Amino acid sequence: MMERVLLVEDSQFFGTAVKERIESEFKCQVYWATSMAETEALFNQHGDNFAIGVLDYTLPDAREGEIIEFVLSRNIPSIVFSAIFSDDARDFIWSHKVVDYVLKKRPESINYVLSLIKHILRARETKILVVDDSRLYRQTVVDLLKVRHYDIYEATNGKEALQVLAEHPDIRMVITDYYMPEMDGIQLTNEIRRTHGRDSLAIIGISSEGGGIVSAQFIKSGATDFLNKPFLTEEFYCRVTQSLDLLRYIRKFKNLSTRDFLTALYNRRYFFDLGHKFYAAAIREKKAVMVATIDIDHFKKVNDTYGHDAGDQVIKVVANTLAASFRETDIVARFGGEEFCVFAANIQPDDAAKLLERIRRIIGNSKVNVGDNSIQVTVSIGACIDTHKSLEEMIIRSDQMLYAAKDQGRNRVLIV
Ligand code: GH3
Ligand code: MG
Ligand code: MG
Repeated sequence: MMERVLLVEDSQFFGTAVKERIESEFKCQVYWATSMAETEALFNQHGDNFAIGVLDYTLPDAREGEIIEFVLSRNIPSIVFSAIFSDDARDFIWSHKVVDYVLKKRPESINYVLSLIKHILRARETKILVVDDSRLYRQTVVDLLKVRHYDIYEATNGKEALQVLAEHPDIRMVITDYYMPEMDGIQLTNEIRRTHGRDSLAIIGISSEGGGIVSAQFIKSGATDFLNKPFLTEEFYCRVTQSLDLLRYIRKFKNLSTRDFLTALYNRRYFFDLGHKFYAAAIREKKAVMVATIDIDHFKKVNDTYGHDAGDQVIKVVANTLAASFRETDIVARFGGEEFCVFAANIQPDDAAKLLERIRRIIGNSKVNVGDNSIQVTVSIGACIDTHKSLEEMIIRSDQMLYAAKDQGRNRVLIV
């Protein structure tokens, strides 16, 4: 589904530039109005169905920022463009609960708007937990977050916070007060970090008035950042945005080190990291396990006939088929070149045989279209469904089966 962006801007030059940039960088359709009247017409035509508004402060028929109130009354998170920098205008803009305001004249301002849009488009899927025993302060923070349409959860103390986190493991950020009964913010941070690493959750600590050492203690306990009360709205948003960005960078780096670049499957090293854990757990719980090695047949010929890029496409398609054929809890990895390895737990021998046979058939029947060429490949699969002594041993056995399958003419599954 295409997101709709409302752009209100009377300058043709600026409007064109912003519309083009937004549409080229996001899966978005920009609806552009050049006045308050045109904006109203857009609302009449499309309803309030806009994910975000990008609004010019000064319009021919609304010279004093009236457009802000108009669009915000439709509950659309909005970014304001302004050529003015007076304290009054700034206060006026913030008092209207906008996402942020951006100075028009700066050349980098469009980039900033784009980064805000990216953030807002994700906000609805970003779960944030606000922890504070004071209803008033909690509400203040919640109201600030609501402006950006985050998915917000609340807790009144540390214990409740841990409970909410356990129920919603996909919460991405905790904003916690320091002084609270039962468990203070620093104890809470310590407790959270025992189970939630920096790559899965950001924590912002808020220290009470005159907090001093508290902010340092927050960081030492694993908080991503802190704020001292009282804080400026602008500062609050900067910290939240930055911490969420940091979280995404950490996840991205982790992905780079665990995943294969071409196919986005796990890489060989991570297969062993995860595989040893999964294998040990399966043995402990006496679950059936399977290791399968999959190799594309005569792949060298694909490269020689259609070129290396076409070969890459074929590898990707085979990888996608494998990823789609196994469960989330199985480990599907690219071992190198055109060879893949899968570890699956809790799979019965009969099911394993059927599944691998089906995968062989699906891949053999699919065509990969690259340019004018339609490329078809087959795979040979070797698998081991006997636990043996170790994961390594299982891999060796499945490899032996793979080579036997190649020997017997390829495009077949052999299981031991
Ligand atoms: P077999 O049926 O016995 O498996 O024959 P094969 O040609 O598939 O196997 P072989 O090991 O002889 O050749 C594999 C080829 O895969 C050689 C190598 O150039 C190519 N290859 C390895 N990695 C990549 C890659 O990332 N992209 C592309 N396009 N080719 C790759
Ligand atoms: Mg408090
Ligand atoms: Mg091969």
